[in-house]
Amino acid sequence: MIELKASHDSEIRRHGERDYPFECCGLMLGRFQDGDKTVVETYAISNAREEEAKRNRFLIRPEELMRGEKYAREKGLDVVGFYHSHPDDRAVPSQYDLEHAWPTYSYIVVAVEEGSAADLRSWEMEADRTRFNEEEIGLRSEI
Ligand SMILES: [Zn+2]
Repeated sequence: MIELKASHDSEIRRHGERDYPFECCGLMLGRFQDGDKTVVETYAISNAREEEAKRNRFLIRPEELMRGEKYAREKGLDVVGFYHSHPDDRAVPSQYDLEHAWPTYSYIVVAVEEGSAADLRSWEMEADRTRFNEEEIGLRSEI
């Protein structure tokens, strides 16, 4: 399970809407606890791909990931997952996503339909890397 605040959920949705019709991406920073993850902060990253490719793919540049990891460490947090949007597509990871994912992390995908964020789902890769399993999202109260 991944636990986030309602404000994180809306930050990811707003980012997806802002970057529509392109994919947005970012990191989720927080803590691993007994196999679960708790998100403390979202960390927006720009999409590194060329304009034409941005519609279908997302990629975080290594230097951006390193900057995000450094920022997390300074705050005593870990990178617990990644989020990205699927403009006019389902909130289900693609084959490309599977090929570029790592186990342990959470992958949140938000569907953005005609500019409005819709479905938001979280996924975790099977240890043998053959597929994603849907992961429960727990919303915790703001206080
Ligand atoms: Zn994707």
